[in-house]
Amino acid sequence: MTFASLGLIEPLLRTLETLDYKTPTPVQAQAIPAVLKGRDLMAAAQTGTGKTAGFALPVLQRLMMEGPTVASNSVRALVLVPTRELAEQVHQSFMTYAQNLPLSTYAVYGGVSINPQMMKLRKGLDVLVATPGRLLDLYRQNAVKFNQVQTLVLDEADRMLDLGFANELDAVFSALPKKRQTLLFSATFSEAIRQMAGEMLKDPLSIEVSPRNAAAKSVKQWLIPVDKKRKPELFLHLYQSRRWQQALVFVKTRKGVDELEAELQRNGISADSIHGDKPQATRLRALQRFKAGEVLVLVATDVAARGLDIDDMPLVVNFDLPIVAEDYVHRIGRTGRAGMTGEAVSLVCADEVQLLSAIESLTGQLLKRVDEPDFIPDHRVPVTVAGGVVIKKPKKPKVKTVPGSGKGKIHLGNWFEESEAPKAKAVRKVPSFGGKGPKKKG
Ligand code: AMP
Repeated sequence: MTFASLGLIEPLLRTLETLDYKTPTPVQAQAIPAVLKGRDLMAAAQTGTGKTAGFALPVLQRLMMEGPTVASNSVRALVLVPTRELAEQVHQSFMTYAQNLPLSTYAVYGGVSINPQMMKLRKGLDVLVATPGRLLDLYRQNAVKFNQVQTLVLDEADRMLDLGFANELDAVFSALPKKRQTLLFSATFSEAIRQMAGEMLKDPLSIEVSPRNAAAKSVKQWLIPVDKKRKPELFLHLYQSRRWQQALVFVKTRKGVDELEAELQRNGISADSIHGDKPQATRLRALQRFKAGEVLVLVATDVAARGLDIDDMPLVVNFDLPIVAEDYVHRIGRTGRAGMTGEAVSLVCADEVQLLSAIESLTGQLLKRVDEPDFIPDHRVPVTVAGGVVIKKPKKPKVKTVPGSGKGKIHLGNWFEESEAPKAKAVRKVPSFGGKGPKKKG
């Protein structure tokens, strides 16, 4: 399937080509044609599924093709989001996707001065991304009018309710034109969300792209095969050549933690560590320094890191694979949160292939292998395939190793893995809401 076949116009296709988006993600494949037709949408999709482009592209196209030009202080597409971080992120996405279109986009949120936002709104905006509280402030001060709103997007609707925006949302909804398109995105569908959907949406298309487990969310996961003794050298090489910044690094043993920390410090990288031999106060201080950005690399064992409040890391490195496969899911659960796409890279040596296989069976996905040219291991890491089988004698690839010929079924819970994964059989679950759809209000 191509973006062109979904009916997108040429300027958008050109942009997607520049961005190197080759194929639509499942949520995009379903959402784009429906939104272009003007349908309402109720989508269960998390960050990492490509949902932003799923609504931004067709919304931009409709703004180009339909409706009058924007009047002063007016808005044509309104996107409500729970946090200022997400507002900025979604606004950036709109700007990127609209780079070949003569449309204006902007983001407003609380915690910053309202005056520049009022100024910006004077000319009117094609797309306004907003947190509910600040939007309502602007509306009450007549800085924004809603009579031109043709599309409303609710992004992360569940988080907006969790953050206590229900009243603000109600106030905004009642001020919006009744005739409009509404697109609702939510990671979860509680009764409150279903009720909101029932009131807001007309004959919505239901889309669900559900990751099967925690490992399948917006975390880009990959591994580098390497000889055991060269792991410290490889880590240093990656850290420097890939310009990594903050990283949480998991090492199997306390001794290993100390050794890596010392090696990093010898090489001028600010590192601290936590493990079970260290007093609680020392561990907490290390954590605080790490969170404050005073230390860039935090090296930890699983036990010491468990229960610690570190959960918005851009990068988790499995210097050693965990003995218990579930720990892998806990480790990588510390990245890819808060609307960010995270990365989890594992340095894997031949000895660890059974651990790798156990992790792949648990998460239901093969980890993509990426060889680092100067670190191709002498002791090859055997090829793993779906279902946890290990082929004893792998072929010796020259540059790139492609795992798995794909016997048996594998669930690739997230398009990211699917698009980059080897040709294993993919079984995707995209159920509709079926009979449990939103109740229509009579
Ligand atoms: P989202 O789930 O909207 O936060 O998107 C996650 C990431 O995937 C973003 O960095 C997008 O730029 C990227 N992305 C979205 N759609 C595609 C696609 N079809 N091909 C490649 N990358 C994409």
